[in-house]
Amino acid sequence: MIFRQLFDSQSSTYTYLLGDEASGEAIIIDPVFEQVRREVALIEELGLRLVASLETHVHADHVTGAWLLKEKLGSRIALSDRSGAQGADLYLTHGARVTFGQKYVEARATPGHTNGCMTFVLDDQSAAFTGDALLIRGCGRTDFQQGSAVSLFHSVREQIFSLPPSCMIYPAHDYGGSTASSVAEEVAHNPRLGAQIREEDFRGYMENLGLPYPKLMDIAVPANLKCGRPDVLAATEADWGPVHTTYAGVPEIAPQWVDENRLGLCVVDVRELYEFHGELGHVGGAQLIPLGELSRRFGEIGRAKPVVVVCRSGARSARATLFLRQQGFDRVANVTGGMLRWRAQHLAVE
Ligand code: FE
Repeated sequence: MIFRQLFDSQSSTYTYLLGDEASGEAIIIDPVFEQVRREVALIEELGLRLVASLETHVHADHVTGAWLLKEKLGSRIALSDRSGAQGADLYLTHGARVTFGQKYVEARATPGHTNGCMTFVLDDQSAAFTGDALLIRGCGRTDFQQGSAVSLFHSVREQIFSLPPSCMIYPAHDYGGSTASSVAEEVAHNPRLGAQIREEDFRGYMENLGLPYPKLMDIAVPANLKCGRPDVLAATEADWGPVHTTYAGVPEIAPQWVDENRLGLCVVDVRELYEFHGELGHVGGAQLIPLGELSRRFGEIGRAKPVVVVCRSGARSARATLFLRQQGFDRVANVTGGMLRWRAQHLAVE
């Protein structure tokens, strides 16, 4: 199985991508709106097809990327039937399965942090995605959004701690740098919910947390009740061409498109002079500024047209693209695969 744990540092949220290698189908758990571009790039780079995005609950600290992923990739939106959210495609009940290729996760209702909290258990019970029901050495708060310490206590004990001791725990958040735990580890060491702790102890603990009101709650909860569909649909895509952002964060554009639209672009070649005149040739009208000279010569690049950057393989030009963006070129992209791909596609050179 393909498994990736992704992090949003703004909200300390973990997003999980699970893919079935044989079929290429994948699901994502708790995507974050601001990270969708990164997630889409990763899904495409891994050659996966996203079939569903799952929410462990209606979050109060970040806006979900579920709606945006559906827009971009056609994935279905799934969350608990007790979430109160509008606009989902699948309303999950306890015991429901969400399949991706030959694999599936089982939804277990684990209310307490919110009414609609769910834990997603991988088919072989080797991993559980616990949302905010169970965190590493902690748990989600129970003082808002229909929170109930008593039901959280029973949810964790009956639905999560009943899994095999070796079952890995992957929570929705961690604020201290931990990435995963196991059932055995939490049963032994969770200071709130571990084996030695009684229901009354837990209730007392949770009633006295004294946490501040979550910063994004007034924005996040209403947005998440619509599965992350924004009120105003802002254009986040480049308006000048089919720019695709890679997982590494580099805006890229296809050589074929550059060739067809060359006259409307400023093509900057960042190779060395001998390469520019070497066997691969260069794009007609390209401006040569070797990467090593770019930091003092970028002022020579016109800003009237979008800038596309090229090198031999696309590596140096990726560096140059990011540099130019830092210098305020907002219409800039790297030519994917560089002159090697350009030539492989039999595009014209000088
Ligand atoms: Fe939460």
